[in-house]
This record gives sequence, C-alpha cells and structure tokens, in this order.
Amino acid sequence: MLMLVAAVAMPAVLGATNPLLAPWSGPYGGVPPFDKVKVELIKPALEAAMAEKLAAVDRIANDPAPPTFDNTLAALERSGRTFDRVGRIYGVWTSELATPDVRALAREMEPRLASLDDRIVQNGKLFARIAAIYEGRAESCKTPEQARLAWRIYTWFVRAGARLDPAAKKRVGEINERLATLGTSFGQNVLADEDGYVLVLKEERDLAGLPLSFRSEAAASAAARGLTGKWAVLNIRGSVGPFLTFSDRRDLRETAWRNFVSRGDHGDERDNKKIVAETIALRAERSRLLGHETYAQWRVADSMAGTPERAMALMEAVWPAAVGRVREEVAAMQAVADAEGAGIAIAPWDYRYYAEKVRKARYDLDEGQVKPYLQFDRLRDGMFWVTGQLYGFRFKPARGVPVYHPDVHVWEVSDGAGKALGLLFIDPWARPGKRSGARAVALRPQETMDGGVLPLVAISTNFVRGRTGGPNLMSWDGARALFHEFGHALHGLSSRVTYPSLSGLGVADDLVELPSQIMERWLWTPELLDRFARHYGTGDPIPRDLVEKIDRTSTFNQGFATVEQLSSALVDMKAHVAEGPRFDAAEFERTTLAGLGMPREIVMRHRMPHFTHVFGSEAYAASYYSYIWSDVLAADAFEAFTEEKGPYDKAVARRFQERVLSVGNTVDPAEAYRAFRGRDPAIGALMRRRGFAEAGPGAGKARPD
Ligand SMILES: [Zn+2]
Repeated sequence: MLMLVAAVAMPAVLGATNPLLAPWSGPYGGVPPFDKVKVELIKPALEAAMAEKLAAVDRIANDPAPPTFDNTLAALERSGRTFDRVGRIYGVWTSELATPDVRALAREMEPRLASLDDRIVQNGKLFARIAAIYEGRAESCKTPEQARLAWRIYTWFVRAGARLDPAAKKRVGEINERLATLGTSFGQNVLADEDGYVLVLKEERDLAGLPLSFRSEAAASAAARGLTGKWAVLNIRGSVGPFLTFSDRRDLRETAWRNFVSRGDHGDERDNKKIVAETIALRAERSRLLGHETYAQWRVADSMAGTPERAMALMEAVWPAAVGRVREEVAAMQAVADAEGAGIAIAPWDYRYYAEKVRKARYDLDEGQVKPYLQFDRLRDGMFWVTGQLYGFRFKPARGVPVYHPDVHVWEVSDGAGKALGLLFIDPWARPGKRSGARAVALRPQETMDGGVLPLVAISTNFVRGRTGGPNLMSWDGARALFHEFGHALHGLSSRVTYPSLSGLGVADDLVELPSQIMERWLWTPELLDRFARHYGTGDPIPRDLVEKIDRTSTFNQGFATVEQLSSALVDMKAHVAEGPRFDAAEFERTTLAGLGMPREIVMRHRMPHFTHVFGSEAYAASYYSYIWSDVLAADAFEAFTEEKGPYDKAVARRFQERVLSVGNTVDPAEAYRAFRGRDPAIGALMRRRGFAEAGPGAGKARPD
C-alpha cells in the first residue's frame, strides 16, 4: 500500500545549525526540543551525532595513556551525549508520529544505526582497554557500581562479538544490518495491515449489542477517516477486543477477529512470514558465531533466568493448569450458548463474547456497568495518588515543556519536600501513524556522574478517545494498561544511580516487567476505586458491591489470558532454539501449538506474522517469557505487602523502592529481589492470583536450581 520515495539528502551545511544537535535547554536541566523538530532535520542530525560519537570513541581507543576507569569507561558513558539526545527524538518520531516520510527515514536509518553499534563493538583497541579494566577490576574500579559497569560494558562487547576474528566480525556486522532492515519492514507491514483493515459498520443493525460508549468511539474513529455517519472498528487490540466482547453479530465478530489475527499474514507484499524465516535463520547463525548453540541460549544468558531451560520450566509448570482452566471456561460458555439455542460450538471469535455472558451470569457484572466509572483523567489522578501514598511522589502540570503532539501532557514529579525528581510525558490516544500497543520509554535516563540529571520518562498508549466534549471512558483492561505503563515510568523516575548505562529501565529483560506488573495491582484496591472511580455523569463513587464483584472476578477468564500469553512465549522460545535454515513460520506455529495441546478456541496473543515484540526488533526475542517470569515476581512481591499491613504499607513500599526500583542495574537482579523479599521468588503467589491449582513438585521456584 505504501510506495515511498527515499528521503532527499540535505545539504551538509544544515548540520551546523541543526537545532536537534544542541544541548537541551529550558527548565528541568533541559527538555527535548520537540517544538523545533522537522522530519527533514532528523537525518542530518543523526548523521552528525553518529560521526561525533565515532570520533569520541576513536579518541578513547587511541588514548596513549594506560586504560583507567575514568579515561575509558566513564569516557564511553560520556561519548554519545549528542547521539543519545537525537536518537531519543528519532525514536519518538518513529514510534508515535510515523507518517510515510518518517517510515522511509526509519527504513534508511535502522541499518546504519545497527552498523554504528558494530563499528564501536568491533573496535579492537577499545575492547582491549575495556577488557583490561574489567579483568583488573579489583584495582581499577573504586566502587561496587564501577565494577558493575565494567562487567556490564565488557559483557555487552563480548556478546556482540568483540572477541571474534575479523572475518566473523564482518559477518556479524552484515547480519546486524540485515536484521535491522528486516525488523523495520516487519513493523511497518503490521502497521500497514492495522491501518488497511478497518471494519466499517454501515447501518444500525451492525451495531447490535455494542454499548453506547463503543458506538461513540467508533463513530469518532470513522469520522476521523472521513466516514461520517458510519462506525469504524479499528484493527487494533483496543478496538477489536471490545467489539469481540459485545457485538451480537457473530458474522462481524468473525470478520473483525480474522482481520486482527491475520495482520502480516495475507500472502501479499506485506506478508511477514518470509521476514520471520530470514530473521530466525540470521539470529541462529549469529549466535553460533558467538559461541552459543542457539539464539535462545545467547539471549537468555544475559537475564535473570540464565538459561532457556529455566524459562521453559517455569512456563511448563503453569501451562497444564492454564489449559485445564480453559476447558472449564469453554464448558461454561458452551452451556450458555446451548441454553440460548445458539446452535454453535465456541469458536475463537466467540470467546470474549460468551465469557462476558458467563461473567454477567455468574457475577452479575458486565464491562458496561464498570466503564462509566473509569474516566481517563480521574484514573490518571488516581495512579498519581497511589504513588503519593506509597512513595511520597507528587505530580503537577509542568510548565514550559514542548510536546511532540497536542495530545501529550507533561507532569512534574517531585518528592514530598517539593524537590523535582523528573518529568512524565503521557500520550494516551490512538491516532494514525502511532505504533499500536502501549509502551514506556526513557527520554533521558537519570544519572549523577557529572552532577544530577533528572529522568524524563514517556508513556504512550492507544486508548480510543470518546466523542468531542464527552468523557473519555476506559475498559478495565485499558485501566490496567495505563497502570502497567505507569509502573515502568515510576521505575525510571525512582532511579538513583551514578552511571546512565545502569540507570532505571536498563535492567535484565525478565526483571523489567516487575515494576509495571506489580503497579497494576493497586488498581484493584478499594482505597483507589472509592476515590477515583467516579461516574462520569453523577460523580458518584463506584458502588461498593460493584467493587466486590470486580474483586471476585479477578480470577475469571485467567485460563484464556494465561494460555494466549504463554502460547506466544513458548512459540517465541521454541522458534529460537529451532534450526535456522528453511524455517516455515506457518508450519512451525501449527506443529508447535499442536504439540503443546493448544485449545482450539484460543489463538496466540501475538501470532508470528505480527509479533512485533519479537520480530519488529530484538526487544523481546526469546524473551517474551519475561512477562510470565515478571508476573511470578510481581505476584510474589505483592504478597510482601499483603503479608504485612496491606497494599498501602509504607514500610514495605520503602523497601521495594530502595532495593528494587531505585537500584537500576547496579545490583544483580536475583540479589536485588532477595534483598527486598528475604528469599528467592516462588511460583505459588501467581498460581493463587490466577486461581489455578498449585503445580506439582519442581515448580515451586521461579528459578529452579
Ligand atoms: Zn511492560
């Protein structure tokens, strides 16, 4: 659908006056110059910043003085300041404002950025200095944090191929460049299928079953696409999910479901299956060059789990109980369908619809009853209030901070004494060109190596906005997503470390979801709901019996939620232990799911052709398990509160902040967790939380010995 021309090269002179290259100015120690960004400025700024970084790295590598922590590792930490600033802006544009010109820019720049990393990692003189410091760290490093940084940087270099011979280094470089191109195309193909397969509802009878709030959102979405008077079901989770839950029209549910699960899998020029195959093969080849049998082994070695086997053992401990629960859920739904005389067998596009009916029948609760109490603004204030109770944080609108889109609002975060701790950018609403899903990113990590630098953190979600002038109401799932991303933001804002590479969100992949998943739990607390879940029309607090019902439903449909997530995680891991050549994504998915005994009523939360976590970049490749891993940690950590005075126990909160949230990557994650909990994490809390029968022997620990 997208035929794009390459970005026109800009005259070199632009680099000299490019506002994106300047140090950030303004309040809070400088803020991103979002108001000065023009797409055509990004490429020359990136090029100039890359050149500057390479020159700085070369100076470090060729320093005639013997290597020291300061002249090598600290100097490396300082070497890319301009590049970091420009890179963050580029990241915001490619994620949040990906117009066709930005997408073309990304396709051009991603391989060049990958090769920049390679040139640094493959600089032999530089690596020799790093290795000397690391190996002599008892002498060369003055603090535990310096020793940790030496380990972190040394390990990054080794994992990226610094010890390889020149021929192997060259091949790794080629692979990385190709993988960057493939990842960009993969993500753009998914986005194109999300934009391109909107289900348009044309008449009243197409709306059967849909709540008023959904109708008005769908009308607004249609109007935004020039389809005034119609209703649009966007091909994103936030729109398809509620449609599948409420629409009485089974035929339209099937269409919406097929659109959604077929993203990247239409057999056309945007089909991602070939990209998946090539990516898997290249990752396997690179891992073998680096001395690992499989990509999964290489990847998980750098995380809390340590080996793919440990990650798989955890998933396989949970899987049977989750599948067993799905059988019960399907039986209950089939009974409802039979009693209605529907004459159907539950299909994947029926799951959410009949689950909702079972929920109503069993708990007398429907999503439509809850939604009027879930207003975006109030919930945002509510999560601010929670962190005030727990950690003493205060939030107020920040002044004089430019934003990249009028939807974005910026909050100053301060401690109880009014001292600014950082900024939080919130970008809530879906719009064309915005990457789907929800995310949190550090626009600037906290550090103190050259004086205190305040963290700037952004969260971006794809909630569907209410009609103009009306309330912005959220689903329970949407509210959870908001709290989740806010948990990531708090992690970044709580950081108290010296070196930027060890700061905030830069922790092991399977620890990074702990702060976010545990944050979701405060949404369930009556203390929060009584104050902030207020009816948009009457202002009345959410009725107590409704809160009790919500609480009783917390284990409801957990078979579905767990199976859709675990099946994605298991397929991801197994694909990355598979042999590289001739990988057939469709066949692999089919046989792997059959081998697992995947219930036929459920589809993976992310099928391979649109699994952007895994194939749009390497962010979650062989690491999607980190969600369940982190959820084990989150469930176990939350019980630390409930074992004491409850969710608002300030002493436990202080311990969590001091020993987990604030330490970034300065401490080994397993040690950090033990320092908070007094023991290793255990799986029991997750099983209880999801209402599953406890698993058998060998499953008692998240990290089996
Ligand atoms: Zn997350």
